[in-house]
Amino acid sequence: MRTQVAAVCLSLSLCFAASASAATTQGGAPHSVTPEGGALDLISSSFGQRSRDLEIVYRSSEAITPQLLAAVNGGQICTVFDQAARSARSVCVTRSNGRWQIVSRGDRVEGSVSQPRASELRLRFEPAAAKLRVGLADVYVNATAAGCAEQQAKSAKITWSGAKLGSAAVLAAPCEHRLPRVGSYQARVWDVITTGCRRHGAGQVSRGPSGKRIALTYDDGPSAYTPAFLRELRRLGVPATFFMIGQHVSANASLVRSMLRDGHMLANHSWSHANMGGGGPSASAQLRDGSAAIRRATGFTPCLFRPPYGSTGADLVSRANAQGMTSVLWSVDPLDWRTPGTGSIVSTVLAQTSGGGIILSHDGGGPRSQTLAAMGQIVPTLKRRGYKFVTLTDLLNYPARIKLVK
Ligand code: ZN
Repeated sequence: MRTQVAAVCLSLSLCFAASASAATTQGGAPHSVTPEGGALDLISSSFGQRSRDLEIVYRSSEAITPQLLAAVNGGQICTVFDQAARSARSVCVTRSNGRWQIVSRGDRVEGSVSQPRASELRLRFEPAAAKLRVGLADVYVNATAAGCAEQQAKSAKITWSGAKLGSAAVLAAPCEHRLPRVGSYQARVWDVITTGCRRHGAGQVSRGPSGKRIALTYDDGPSAYTPAFLRELRRLGVPATFFMIGQHVSANASLVRSMLRDGHMLANHSWSHANMGGGGPSASAQLRDGSAAIRRATGFTPCLFRPPYGSTGADLVSRANAQGMTSVLWSVDPLDWRTPGTGSIVSTVLAQTSGGGIILSHDGGGPRSQTLAAMGQIVPTLKRRGYKFVTLTDLLNYPARIKLVK
């Protein structure tokens, strides 16, 4: 059997550098001592990144059976990433507890493994989950069939007793398939930048789908209070959505960038907090300038808009839609802008929140220490009731727009 290795590009921007000479291997003799269950006869491997996930594909000339990669018998296919100035990391797929698993240095890596056909395995995972760094990597693939070492030892013994040293080396071959046979491919782990989000569905919403997910939203920032809100959200371990006034964004650009890094969602609350309920061209300008301010500071284009004062109308909704934004109202309103007292904010939010809820509060536009103090009671209580806090885009199932950069 002749084993031809082909590098396949998954992505126009990235693929293994195809290296036909290094990646061709002769398989004839070794396969006569294939272990029980068949050989892991890899014919190609590919590596690509079109989204946050790296995708690695392994193709074999034969079925890749669970038995062949049984972790308990040492079966695995590993891609080894050799990145500058650090020790190589391997990311392996193996079969354990009745399912395919991705493992790196003994730790489970969150991701998915699919088998679109018997002879093919596809792995998807975020590079950071396997502690891979952004940048170039030398990569090669090492595949070991389950039980192979044992079989090899037996075979080698027989061969050695026959004093055929040359054959022993050949017999060792089927245990480990390496792609390429010599050297490595060059690949790149890309940095993923979130450039925006994509709306779909209703033009205006005031709550998400029912279920146990809810969203915290903060209007009228960024302000002098916003850093304290971010610290509190970090402490509580929940994301939020910030509807920002465009004209306050540029003076707080680094703060707004840190929101994005922390996993919060950035959203448009107009340029200057104008009453836009009447719609018209001035409303379009407020929408456009509000989004542009966020984009200038962060590279992120919002897909959510909240009308100042909740003042809205059909024309405004359609103008926001035309700029790629859903208008978002709320289902929970503690009237925190009136500073009714921390206890009142807490009790109103707890009383009004149900599944799919959108909770309105403010991190700007006035003194916000009551709102800030209320978070420490609201979040743990709602978590205990089984709610999960998500960003508004997650609540509405809007996908992110991303860009891969070097
Ligand atoms: Zn407002």
